Amino acid sequence: MSKSIEQICAELDVAARFRQPMRRLTSLRAGGEIACLAFPDTPEKAARLVQRLNENGIRWSPLGYGTNLLVADGPLDRVAVSLRSMKAPVTFDGLRVAVPAGYSLPRLVNQCADRGLSGIEGLSPIPGSVGGAIKMNAGSHGYEIADVIESVEVARDGQVVTLPRAAIGFAYRHSPFTERDLILGTTLRLRPGDPATSRAEIAEYRRHRAATQPIHANSAGCIFKNPAPGLATGRIIDELGLKGETIGGATISTLHANFIVTNGAARAADILALIERIRSRAREARGIELEMEVDVWD
Ligand SMILES: Cc1cc2nc3c(=O)[nH]c(=O)nc-3n(C[C@H](O)[C@H](O)[C@H](O)COP(=O)(O)OP(=O)(O)OC[C@H]3O[C@@H](n4cnc5c(N)ncnc54)[C@H](O)[C@@H]3O)c2cc1C
Repeated sequence: MSKSIEQICAELDVAARFRQPMRRLTSLRAGGEIACLAFPDTPEKAARLVQRLNENGIRWSPLGYGTNLLVADGPLDRVAVSLRSMKAPVTFDGLRVAVPAGYSLPRLVNQCADRGLSGIEGLSPIPGSVGGAIKMNAGSHGYEIADVIESVEVARDGQVVTLPRAAIGFAYRHSPFTERDLILGTTLRLRPGDPATSRAEIAEYRRHRAATQPIHANSAGCIFKNPAPGLATGRIIDELGLKGETIGGATISTLHANFIVTNGAARAADILALIERIRSRAREARGIELEMEVDVWD
């Protein structure tokens, strides 16, 4: 007989909250209620949890900080597995840095800079978790997280398994991890650096961001990937004259056209309609098929 989410979480001693509004858990501030939010507090419990959910035919998805996520208006019949309750610290061993997937990426960048470890400064303005960054091979200012990964820990068949970098085919804003993969941690290999130089570089990236992107508005960063190196989607959308276009509570940012910003009361349907408008205009006017950078849960 199949077990309920409540039974599985209770048996594994995993904290859970039910019928949670995703609007509060995503930086776009949109989305409906999700059936359950589960908070395993160790990698081992997390691996067992997703195995048991699989065995019982219960749909689940990993949830980082919700900064690259558009959730449908719902209700959503699935479990979001959050790693925020894992309190394992970052460990430093020479140039190697082992970090849990639920850790904040900007915080990690700062800590590495302070210790004279270089190689991830450009990732400092990315507001998500380390696991979320690995899932989409996050990058900015010429840096990508894949460039410094030595290995990744994932949940497989109820166990924590370490995959070497050579076994993971990363590409531009892409990893081979699917929605059935839970990333639990990673070991990075950085370069020796100078704390003052790294901090100055980080400060410059943050200044640049504040001037060119609506960083204080509700958004999920860039909605679309760039179609080719040197061809910026923001510029394409700008040239199509779509800046400021609004549907319901969602607007194409006037500061950076690849951002959709919301007023906090937007429906996911408003955002999706705006996305479709941009895609069809880019297709008709420029023959370009824009690919989503933001993940959609529907
Ligand atoms: C203002 C702003 C600026 C941004 N700038 C950039 C940028 O410059 N470059 C860039 O690349 N991105 C950028 N982003 C997007 C986003 O911050 C990154 O993609 C970030 O890495 C997402 O991490 P997250 O923890 O928020 O993931 P979430 O949004 O929680 O999840 C995104 C996807 O990853 C999956 N996921 C999350 N955690 C895990 C895990 N542990 N295991 C497996 N799958 C997981 C989720 O299931 C989901 O499908 C920006 C976003 C904002 C709001």
